Amino acid sequence: MDSYDVVVIGGGPAGYVAAIRAAQLGLKTACVDAFERGGKASLGGTCLNVGCIPSKAMLDSSEKFEMITHEAQEHGIEVTGASVNLEKMLARKAGVVDKLTGGIAYLFKKNKVTSFFGLGRLVRQEEGGWVVDAAGTEVLAKNVIVATGSSPRALPLAPFGGHIVENSGALAFDAVPGKLGVIGAGVIGLELGSVWRRLGAQVTVLEALPGFLMAADAAIGKEALKQFQKQGLEFHFGVNISAVTQGDAGVSVTYTEKDQEVTATFDKLIVSIGRVPHTAGLGAEAVGLSLDPRGFVGVDSHYRTNLPGIYAIGDVIGGAMLAHKAEEEGVAVAEMLAGQAGHVNYDVVPWVIYTSPEIAWAGLTEQGAKDKGLTVKTGQFPFSANGRALGHGDPRGFVKVVADADTDRLLGVHMIGPNVSELIGEIVALMEFGASSEDLARTVHAHPTLSEVVKEAALAADKRALHL
Ligand code: FAD
Repeated sequence: MDSYDVVVIGGGPAGYVAAIRAAQLGLKTACVDAFERGGKASLGGTCLNVGCIPSKAMLDSSEKFEMITHEAQEHGIEVTGASVNLEKMLARKAGVVDKLTGGIAYLFKKNKVTSFFGLGRLVRQEEGGWVVDAAGTEVLAKNVIVATGSSPRALPLAPFGGHIVENSGALAFDAVPGKLGVIGAGVIGLELGSVWRRLGAQVTVLEALPGFLMAADAAIGKEALKQFQKQGLEFHFGVNISAVTQGDAGVSVTYTEKDQEVTATFDKLIVSIGRVPHTAGLGAEAVGLSLDPRGFVGVDSHYRTNLPGIYAIGDVIGGAMLAHKAEEEGVAVAEMLAGQAGHVNYDVVPWVIYTSPEIAWAGLTEQGAKDKGLTVKTGQFPFSANGRALGHGDPRGFVKVVADADTDRLLGVHMIGPNVSELIGEIVALMEFGASSEDLARTVHAHPTLSEVVKEAALAADKRALHL
């Protein structure tokens, strides 16, 4: 039986990054991953195959179409006859995914990570480590990292199948649905709803919660809802779904909203109500690996499970279900296994929603800071007062800075507007270094750039914005 210092189960952002880092640190490493796309092994997990990457590829393609059909004219560009070749758009998306998933296979080779394709299962503990069934081959692992990720949560009334789809189905419709229903107004529902609306679908979003984007700063949620409604997305909040029936032509959904019963029919229905930890096939029960009541693998602050030598990271341990959080945990656990001090700062994890306008934040919301008993000051600056945003023809949204009124330390920064997915990078770097809003306000930002809005919002926190 071959033996390894580390065997990683799962080759998504958590697992493949942990494997590369462990190998970089001189540990003999293997990774076993079961993801299959088009009948072939495909590393990268949910994120690269059916999540972050293909959704952004489709968001970018559909945004270009919207730009050409709705915004080009404003720039003096006359375009007639623009149309969508969905087959080509989907093929382009698949090409991007192929490139990146193939890239991980290359990185594994380069870093001498042994790759197994198929299920990884915990078998038993033996002297020297754990026996893992790696796609039918038993190997001995001194340490095992469980990184088996998550799967879409199904709505019991509307099991996936036919016209009812989760993320992978929603990224591969073979025709633009005329009427598209989306259950769940979270990140995934908003991104996928946006793609199909831009391509011509009439999109209705049904959300059980009474409000919109309740995890975001209230000012951002309010502005985002306004913008999305303006684009034609229809929202219903506080809905209670009582029946979902599916026929050949589509799906009908019956729900109550403000005590009124409504039945809506859709050609396709995306269910995006969150994700659940994936541990099926792992052998958790057989070896006594503890799961919490919601099915997440329980870990301590060092990603140690209840079993010695078995660690867990990424979506399967819960917390923010984000690829970059999963990756950082992969680095941290590998470094800990190599005797280093791995660490993830969960206080400064950026959140991004890749809609148009984009939404991004890091740190505490204004209300969240107040709930912690902090005295806060805030500064807000709109993109409509920024030369670059006006030049782009996209002056929607603003940046809001939340700082501690006593110490001036940046507590959180919230953005809605063009390219804010990139602008948030500056903020997380500053917050990692414990910067104040004054630090941000006094940092020279290139002119004319969108980043000047960030600086001006920091100036506004001290009531000294220059261009408003
Ligand atoms: P996963 O990526 O789920 O990988 C787990 C891997 O383990 C899979 O390949 C799975 O097949 C494999 N596996 C499971 N069990 C076994 C087993 N027993 N043996 C072998 N292999 C096994 N996050 C962002 O940060 N930014 C985004 O823009 C973003 N967009 C998203 C869009 C969509 C539509 C979706 C669905 C998700 C998105 N996410 C995004 C979330 C992101 O995809 C996840 O947080 C991330 O993939 C988690 O990484 P992971 O490695 O923990 O799990």
